[in-house]
Amino acid sequence: MGWRVVLWVLLMGLVAGFPVARAGSTDVAAATTPVQVPAAIMPAAVTDAGSASPAVATDARLAGDGERTRLVMDLSRPVALGAFTLADPYRVVVDIPDVAFALPASAGREGRGLVSAYRFGLFAPGKARLVIDLTGPVKIDKAFVIDPIDGQPARLVVDLVKTDRVSFMKSVAAPVQRAQAVPALAPPTVGPDDGRPVIVLDPGHGGVDSGAVNATASINEKDVVLQIARTLRTKLMATGRYRIVMTRESDTFVPLGDRVKIARDHQAQLFISLHADSLAARTGEVRGATVYTLSDRASDAEAQRLADDENRADMIAGLDLSEEPTDVAGILLDLAQRETKNFSAQFARTLVSGVDGVARMHKSPIKSAGFKVLKAPDVPSVLFELGYLSSTKDLELMTSDAWQSKVTDAMVTAINAYFSLRERTGSVPVAMP
Ligand SMILES: [Zn+2]
Repeated sequence: MGWRVVLWVLLMGLVAGFPVARAGSTDVAAATTPVQVPAAIMPAAVTDAGSASPAVATDARLAGDGERTRLVMDLSRPVALGAFTLADPYRVVVDIPDVAFALPASAGREGRGLVSAYRFGLFAPGKARLVIDLTGPVKIDKAFVIDPIDGQPARLVVDLVKTDRVSFMKSVAAPVQRAQAVPALAPPTVGPDDGRPVIVLDPGHGGVDSGAVNATASINEKDVVLQIARTLRTKLMATGRYRIVMTRESDTFVPLGDRVKIARDHQAQLFISLHADSLAARTGEVRGATVYTLSDRASDAEAQRLADDENRADMIAGLDLSEEPTDVAGILLDLAQRETKNFSAQFARTLVSGVDGVARMHKSPIKSAGFKVLKAPDVPSVLFELGYLSSTKDLELMTSDAWQSKVTDAMVTAINAYFSLRERTGSVPVAMP
């Protein structure tokens, strides 16, 4: 049980003389997420409401050592900020209004002192977030924004000092306040219920959570899967058979639980989560697409590893998960859930046979594990791992128009085949285009 301290330190004036070294090479996994700031403590004078365009972050660097570390980010103009800490793992979260990140591709990928890495990106519409991973417990000594002066840009400054776990835990968010850190989701809309089944397309990651990153090619999983989801949506809508909902349509963060909720709220008949992850070098040149379904026991070690990675998305974006159940065991219990599981497996097989031959498939292309995003008990759900960004060959294919076109065509065919079968067996309404 933790306690949270939210620090609102605004425009505190110039801090000079702190030697600031440019971070060597840092790959930007561009992402920021803003936290919802209670109106009462967001001073009106410094909110960005009414500003025509977002402030632009142009550079960032770390300075200091294992006792005291400073993060500085250059901004085109001052913004309001809020900062707080999260435990397990140790993180500092800085929330700012809408900021456009134009940082070097390396920003945040290498640490210094008390900081092991940091991420930035959209967290919710109009809100950006900086998530700082720590090497150990810290105290936020200061967090403020300096006005531009003497030709210097405005600067966001976060000063961290080393502390012990007991002191750190006293500063961590209290449950009530934590709830405010979850972004308000504008529910995606779909036309009026005309009897056609709803399919939810879920481009993985987004905003402050880049997903897998191929640093060499400067390609992020979140961008690749959003592009493919958009293409797939267009093609599915063109069939006239379905209503389509996207869990996100832009580069913003959506918590895993909200993705599941979107599917349930729309009484979706199918949920497809799209991913393109990467593997550590030790696993060699693994390639190919894989379709995952939910199970409480992973089909193999690789499926377990992937589910662990994907389930970390909320943590990466700076949500506090300390009160969330850590596993999905025991959720596949009742009859409806068993039916959902059967439909998920049926669709997984249909999808694999449809895409096989078009995309290169993994040597065992159907697997299962405890993915949080697949746990809607009443919505057949699969997670489609399109390939590995860590594979040069996969990367080349996945980012090519030709490959995306072929694969989305094959997916539409597989989806049509699945729904045709379910219509024949009376388990979904017959589409009336
Ligand atoms: Zn992913």
